[in-house]
Amino acid sequence: MSIAKWLFSFLLSCAVPAAVLAAGAHEHGRAELEIAVDGSRLELRLSAPLDGLVGFEHRPRNGEERAALESARVALLEPARLIEPSPAARCRLQSAKVPDPFAEHQGDAGEDAHADVDAAWQFDCAEADALTAIVIRLDERFPHLERVEAVFVGPAGQGASTLPAGRGRVELR
Ligand SMILES: [Zn+2]
Repeated sequence: MSIAKWLFSFLLSCAVPAAVLAAGAHEHGRAELEIAVDGSRLELRLSAPLDGLVGFEHRPRNGEERAALESARVALLEPARLIEPSPAARCRLQSAKVPDPFAEHQGDAGEDAHADVDAAWQFDCAEADALTAIVIRLDERFPHLERVEAVFVGPAGQGASTLPAGRGRVELR
């Protein structure tokens, strides 16, 4: 279990902000963003119904849908415009993981199937003390998002905030 995961289990078991109570629900237009700071490491995880990112959740049926899916994946793999930690913290992206949402499914699950995207990013911050906020601009690339429920945990505490349309500033202290 990663430190971030452990911290979130801890957060969920003892604090439970209102926003987190709804965690795990598959609701179109809504996404969850977990942010964890541990020393120089900054980890973010985004979980979103695929519909909020590309406008459909079935396995891509044509070139246009395949391109939409791939383009969303590429945007998440290079999140510089979507996720901006305090510049003074000099955070550098170490890894980005965006698994294929259809990799686990065998065949087409049908019209009623739902699919989620789970992206994970890890940054290393040279000046972690200067990491005070993260600006999120998911709306630049994903205009279908209606809101993002963000939770964070770090050395200065924990909290939760809602980012309308996936845009906003998460204050970490
Ligand atoms: Zn769905």
